[in-house]
Amino acid sequence: MPVFEGVSQYAASGCLVKPVLLQFFQDASVDFNFTLYLARSGNRAPDGWFHASTHPLMSHRELYLYITDPGSLPPRRMDYVGSMATMMGTVTHGVIEAALDQMGVAVPLPEGDCPACGKPYRPARARQSRKWCMEHGAAHQESMSRCHLDSILDFGPPATFGFDYKSIRPLGLKGVPDMDADYFAEKWPKYWAQMQECMRMTGLRRYIVFFLGLGTPWDMREFHIEFDPGFAAKTEAKYLEVLDHARRGVPILW
Ligand SMILES: [Zn+2]
Repeated sequence: MPVFEGVSQYAASGCLVKPVLLQFFQDASVDFNFTLYLARSGNRAPDGWFHASTHPLMSHRELYLYITDPGSLPPRRMDYVGSMATMMGTVTHGVIEAALDQMGVAVPLPEGDCPACGKPYRPARARQSRKWCMEHGAAHQESMSRCHLDSILDFGPPATFGFDYKSIRPLGLKGVPDMDADYFAEKWPKYWAQMQECMRMTGLRRYIVFFLGLGTPWDMREFHIEFDPGFAAKTEAKYLEVLDHARRGVPILW
């Protein structure tokens, strides 16, 4: 784990990712170059699985329709702003991931196939491409739930964290405090639920979410999220109930 000094004034106490990235990007002596594979991320067709990024906060009724009659749900269309934000978010995500990799804090992908999407994990030296899964995946068969984490970060034992990168419009972090987990949960409940699901499925018990504002002043924020066993149990029970109703053909009306 690299030790950096002199940037602590830019990050709240306890931040781990933000200070090392601030240092990394400002240090002209660091030789940083990498090749980025980019593919448009389209809407995922319904596949019968509950996904951490989409489903945890949906009602029983919405989930029941998703499983039994996905065509009845309104299609999600992306406008120009949404499409560009997603694309540029993916580009900057690649930059941040490559930096964390180079600093040696990102846990390498395991060998074998990803339990979430079934693709083989990208071997360490292979070029990025569509044929590989390039993120840590996890799945819970019984509740038909799946997730991908942007990364797993290791800052030395016992500090292993799930990690997600989120991009946001340039001034979207104005007035947002670093490291305030309650603030994060209230402002971005869908992200919070996504991270809880990733912890339920991986067994990780701590998670870092890192925000970058896409444009001047390139603001960064970092939050550390603890596992909430109550929320995990409730979400799993909700999924199991929906699946049970779907199997028995008994519609859910709530
Ligand atoms: Zn995968």
